[in-house]
Amino acid sequence: KTRTIQTVNPATGQPGRTYEEVSTGDAKAAAAAARKAFESWRRTSFAERSAVIRKAAEVLRRRKDEFAALMTEEMGKTLTDGRAEVEKCAFHCDWFAEHAEGYLANEQVDVGGGEAFVTFNPLGVVLAVMPWNFPFWQVFRFAAPALMAGNGALLKHASNVPGCALAIEEVLHEAGVPRDLFRTLLLPSSEVKALIEDDNIVAVTLTGSIAAGRSVATAAGGVLKKCVLELGGSDAYVVLEDADIGAAAKICATARMVNGGQSCIAGKRFIVVRPILEKFETAIVEAMRAFEMGDPRKEGTKLGPLVSEKARDDIHEQVEKSVANGARLLLGGAVPDRPGAWYPATVLADVREGQPAHDAEIFGPVAAIIAADDEADAIRIANNSEFGLGSGVLTGDLERGRRIAAQELEAGMSFVNDNVRSDPRMPFGGVKHSGFGRECSSFGIREFTNIKSVQVA
Ligand code: NDP
Repeated sequence: KTRTIQTVNPATGQPGRTYEEVSTGDAKAAAAAARKAFESWRRTSFAERSAVIRKAAEVLRRRKDEFAALMTEEMGKTLTDGRAEVEKCAFHCDWFAEHAEGYLANEQVDVGGGEAFVTFNPLGVVLAVMPWNFPFWQVFRFAAPALMAGNGALLKHASNVPGCALAIEEVLHEAGVPRDLFRTLLLPSSEVKALIEDDNIVAVTLTGSIAAGRSVATAAGGVLKKCVLELGGSDAYVVLEDADIGAAAKICATARMVNGGQSCIAGKRFIVVRPILEKFETAIVEAMRAFEMGDPRKEGTKLGPLVSEKARDDIHEQVEKSVANGARLLLGGAVPDRPGAWYPATVLADVREGQPAHDAEIFGPVAAIIAADDEADAIRIANNSEFGLGSGVLTGDLERGRRIAAQELEAGMSFVNDNVRSDPRMPFGGVKHSGFGRECSSFGIREFTNIKSVQVA
């Protein structure tokens, strides 16, 4: 009997469309077909691949409104954010269409005689396990460089965004990606291990939670296949006494409220030195209050619903436990009495160890303020986390900011006086339990290549 997926509109709690899942047998057949398609694709020129990926950017731009609406229906993203996300995917496709060849050009090496060079061969068919929070961006971030490098890919997307998953497949096929080379498989996560173990799959990339990352890495380790993991984060922003407090509070609120707070690189912990603590609290409450809940379909809405009522309930529980353990609620913190997955912008002060707002990742619109004695204490608190994805420093002294960002913060990305963002031109990824490997830039595109040494006597 075929299993089905039922989508739910998070804004209303109403059921949406129903989709049929594929069987493990079908998934394995798709892997075999992708492997076959890869054998031809790997021999195409960069110019041929570029033409296809550029076309994908065109299709994305042309169908932007439709895709944004699909995201709103399936996971509650505001239409405004959805359109921006599709634009970002298109920019990313264009970037790799233009630069993949340069990133993967042979590198000549002087070994003191004969000819020696490094060349980058594609690996094969990569399985991509992706999350719902940026349903288009997370997939394109991986797929554009992977396809440009000459690989094939199978997408196992999050179960709550099947429409987005199929739309992405459509975009790539419409652009001219060979049908079998890239396929979306509506497959339950329980079947991912079997696919990783399939001989036609060469590597796996996952963006999602630590738990999902651990099971994918375990399965990949069992069959000695490469994996790249982009897991959660609890990004810390260190706010120093010489910062412009008003500007810092706005940057922190923007960082926290990316995608309704549902982003791995959303700012989650704001570590503020005591001399400016009170002023910062007042300023961030004002900045967070500006994120009013509203209809995600309406132009200008800054905070839509969360992904699901279950996610909302979990977040509310994290807030209540933090308050029970000594956090001070400055804003929000109450579940609105209406259907759907709504939760208001919330600010917690006096956040300390032993509270979920300090110890765990809150994947929603909840800012946690942590007091620090001085710069050294603030850096210590920032690094006192199992995560190490993004981080920020807010200071009036750029030299100080540069030093802390570059040398002190245990994170894959550190921004001075700005909120953390991903960009195709810069490597993206984390340390510690935020994962390993990188996406984007020359580092990302090389993850799924065989970095081969060639010497000719
Ligand atoms: P998950 O990590 O559970 O889901 C991400 C993807 O992994 C989905 O495609 C999911 O499929 C799949 N998956 C889940 N469990 C397994 C498994 N055991 N083996 C193989 N694949 C698996 O994210 P959730 O949506 O449940 O979110 C929970 C938490 O994850 C968030 O609170 C946040 O901390 C983190 N997260 C981080 C993201 C990031 O950008 N780094 C994005 C989303 C979540 P399926 O949907 O079918 O279960």
